[in-house]
Amino acid sequence: MIVGQWFRVRLAMALAVGMAVPLQSQAWAEPWPVIASDSVAWTLLADVRALDSTIEVEARYGTPENFTSAPLPGYEANRIYLRREVAEALARVQKRLMSGGMGLKVFDGYRPVRATLAMVEWAKRTDNTALLTGGFVSSKSRHNLGLAVDLTLVDWSVGGREVDMGTPWDSFTDQAHWASATGRTKKYRELLRRVMEEEGFKQYEQEWWHYSYDVVGETPAFDVVVGEEGR
Ligand SMILES: [Zn+2]
Repeated sequence: MIVGQWFRVRLAMALAVGMAVPLQSQAWAEPWPVIASDSVAWTLLADVRALDSTIEVEARYGTPENFTSAPLPGYEANRIYLRREVAEALARVQKRLMSGGMGLKVFDGYRPVRATLAMVEWAKRTDNTALLTGGFVSSKSRHNLGLAVDLTLVDWSVGGREVDMGTPWDSFTDQAHWASATGRTKKYRELLRRVMEEEGFKQYEQEWWHYSYDVVGETPAFDVVVGEEGR
């Protein structure tokens, strides 16, 4: 099965059973009022693997392996950028995990505004407006600020394989709610949450993979292309 089809089937199922309503509801119609210049963006963002090259990255919005079945604009490399403070905190999380034989794999961090707008356009064009009203696709995401990250755990005792978190990333079902897990899956979610919170991240209850981080001062939105590296 084509991966994109698989995402759509899962998405349709989630909508049919009454999808969770994330916090960004109602915000989808209004884009960010201010977007930082590219030069400002490159001074504020950092590549997480430049801080810790042992962090695994799989920037899935730059591939067809996401709910739109196509790479989104603004993703031109398998890289994850975050606000520098956030990337530094994530590197500290990685250090804690690596001492116990575990590590991080990151699916998304900073998300270009153009990618977010393309998600909104896709939802309208394909008649998936429940995604907009339900808050899954929003014109304003903390990812656009480089202050949110989607990730999971890998186990280096088995070659860096992803652990079983109960659902795949971007699975908008009740099972994706952090508190829904049991048994081993619950232990993994608890471990991830504990190490992330120890370094200042906040867990988002409706998505086990989504964490955010607060920084002091201005938090502009960005639209630089992932992979351009300030050229
Ligand atoms: Zn997220």
